[in-house]
Amino acid sequence: MTILAAHRQHSRRFEEFKYVYPVLSRRSHGISIGLNINPDKACNFDCIYCQVDRTTESAVKKFDLSVAEQELREMLEMVRSGEIAQHPPFNSVPRELIRLNDIALSGDAEPTTLPNFSETIQTIARIKPPDAKIVLITDAGGLDRADVKRGLEIMDANNGEVWAKLDAGTEDYFKLINRTKIPFVRILKNISEAAKARRIVIQSLFLKIRGVGPSEAEITAFCQRLREIGNIKLVQVYTVARKAMTIVDGVPAWQFVTALSNAEVDAITERVRVEAGVNAESFYGQ
Ligand code: SF4
Repeated sequence: MTILAAHRQHSRRFEEFKYVYPVLSRRSHGISIGLNINPDKACNFDCIYCQVDRTTESAVKKFDLSVAEQELREMLEMVRSGEIAQHPPFNSVPRELIRLNDIALSGDAEPTTLPNFSETIQTIARIKPPDAKIVLITDAGGLDRADVKRGLEIMDANNGEVWAKLDAGTEDYFKLINRTKIPFVRILKNISEAAKARRIVIQSLFLKIRGVGPSEAEITAFCQRLREIGNIKLVQVYTVARKAMTIVDGVPAWQFVTALSNAEVDAITERVRVEAGVNAESFYGQ
């Protein structure tokens, strides 16, 4: 049975998919197909700014690779054929943006917690077009797992890219923002080890807590960590763009976690360029 035949047979809309969802990425001028391999919302971190609502249980709890593969095949065909342009919101975007840029492992939590991580990467690599990237968006907590390392090697051979989260330069700030029991030193070691084998992208989100952003000293330490990691292709400096769904000491975080201004984001980006000596881009909250 061909992919197209399968799609016609089921005549499903992607809104009904369990694991696969399309996102229009203006940054990459194309479509990113997201693969949520953590419908259980399991994560190594409990970031103060997390947008995943963990007060409700998700309808889908377990990742089923065979179902995800079928959904991915159907989604790839919808993008390839242009059929996706019939579906909102893709029906209102310029035709040149209806092209596949990447397949991203992200979603409701941390992809490296998946027990069959390498098998999942192998499956994606087998069915994706060669020029489409595989992007792993990770908090780096599981990059030291043997199966994850195998998966990264498969990614290396198949146009893969690791986007690792690093939101702090010091242990104290890391604990305040990412709220995890994993020691900061282990996260740094995992990112450094991954960067030894391939150039990586760092994603860094900075914000204000009760009106106060990261200190000058924190950004100095952050730039020092970037220098120590080395082999960084790009640092993406973000701030919060949507409502934080976490509860901190009984208070919803959205009440006191706010975005940096565009100028404050740019100031950090510039310090990364100058002090860490790496390429950096700003992504604003407003
Ligand atoms: S790593 Fe991502 S999913 Fe996990 S808590 Fe942080 S923001 Fe949420």
